Amino acid sequence: MMDRFPKGFDPVQHGLLRTLYGDFVPLLESIRVRAGWYGIVDEMFARLGRLRNRRDFRVLSVATRGAGNLVVETKGNASDVPDIIHEAHEAAYRTCEHCGQPSRLVVKVGLEALLSSPDIELGDRLLCVDCADEFMTEIGL
Ligand SMILES: [Zn+2]
Repeated sequence: MMDRFPKGFDPVQHGLLRTLYGDFVPLLESIRVRAGWYGIVDEMFARLGRLRNRRDFRVLSVATRGAGNLVVETKGNASDVPDIIHEAHEAAYRTCEHCGQPSRLVVKVGLEALLSSPDIELGDRLLCVDCADEFMTEIGL
């Protein structure tokens, strides 16, 4: 079975962010988080986009590293950026990577998952109870 929640936004979602926040938003391939965090990333860009003195500030990439860990790579400086990114990071720790609901569980996706789902991306995921049940059934854990 395919991984129904691959990292990365769909091009339509990404295009919308680009329309709203311009090239402040990194390239599609530089956003490597799952769909459930779209709201967090959208909110983060909305807040960053309202900053003054952000001329040399850029977001280079947005990624998930390990379950619930949002990593935002930036270049340049603007006041209040650290707070905004910190709050996005904190929100990610409480948010299901698949659906955006409050998260409860870390599902470990090890090599054994490849037996039933060869296309699954390995690595732990932070999920809500419903998504965790569904996902573990899907990948045969
Ligand atoms: Zn969920």
